[in-house]
Amino acid sequence: MTSRTTRRVGSAALERRRAKINAEIAALGLPLPGSLVERLTRCGNTGCHCHGDPPQLHGPYLIWTRKVDNKTVTRTLDTTQADALRPLMENSRRLRELTTELATLALQQVRDDPTQPDP
Ligand SMILES: [Zn+2]
Repeated sequence: MTSRTTRRVGSAALERRRAKINAEIAALGLPLPGSLVERLTRCGNTGCHCHGDPPQLHGPYLIWTRKVDNKTVTRTLDTTQADALRPLMENSRRLRELTTELATLALQQVRDDPTQPDP
């Protein structure tokens, strides 16, 4: 049990961190699923410069990709649309970071509880 005691961070510190994370989640805007990628493409016209040597591909295009029912859904955005959606996707990324940190705190709490198994 001594090894578990030395790993304790203290429940007060843990509770302060939990409250801070919850406050940040509460202040976060809506989390839009998916991510934004820039894609260069080649068209079907073999005479096009995108099939040349060296090839000059089309784009870059701004593509929003996300999973819907385990399938990847893509939407091409213009720069105005991308600028509006980018912060919402950033909210999503931050929310994942924060929930991961909450899970880490939960594991810490279990680890610090001598009546619970060492996780
Ligand atoms: Zn082309």
